[in-house]
Amino acid sequence: MADFRASAQRLHQRITTWRRDLHGIPETGVDTPQTEAYICAELDKIGVSYRKGLGKHGVVALVEGKHKNRVFAIRADMDGLPIKEETGLPFASQNGCMHACGHDAHAAMGLASVKLLHDVREKIEGSVLVVFQPGEEGCTDGPGGAKRMLDDGAFDDPKPDAMVGLHTGCNEAKGQTWPHHNSRFDIDEDVLWIGPAVMATMAFDWLKKQA
Ligand SMILES: [Zn+2]
Repeated sequence: MADFRASAQRLHQRITTWRRDLHGIPETGVDTPQTEAYICAELDKIGVSYRKGLGKHGVVALVEGKHKNRVFAIRADMDGLPIKEETGLPFASQNGCMHACGHDAHAAMGLASVKLLHDVREKIEGSVLVVFQPGEEGCTDGPGGAKRMLDDGAFDDPKPDAMVGLHTGCNEAKGQTWPHHNSRFDIDEDVLWIGPAVMATMAFDWLKKQA
């Protein structure tokens, strides 16, 4: 059994850095080249294989466990919004757009899920696809990022048998309730390690049950 809780907690600082770095470079729609490059550079450091340029700038990482014929997928979105950031946070975006929906946290948690699972890949009863999807907020010039990634073959090989996604919320955050000013961005950063620990556990346990 893999103890994702403990290993995710140990990764907390690195996940926080990923989230804050991504928070500083928000891009909108499917035009997310800088975000794609950042994610790919981190996947290279982790040492996992991936495909990029899907749905324009989507990325699909593959953690290869014991088999390639049973596949669980984890999905994280990665696009920001055309909103000017006025939070005054030290890692605030300066480019006129903003990660105001939490997709910076989602992409960071996607990277963390890759890392957690990659570290125990010999024990996984299948493989795990981790999807980084642009254009979740929609696009002005056609379909959203999910359809574009599928059209580009994101799920052609391997094809996932089950999939999980996660979205951060704010209703429980630090005693403040959305839409209270800034409460959306004052996220409790513990979610950054709890989220991937949950997703990695779901992937690991689901694949074990199919074995
Ligand atoms: Zn969102």
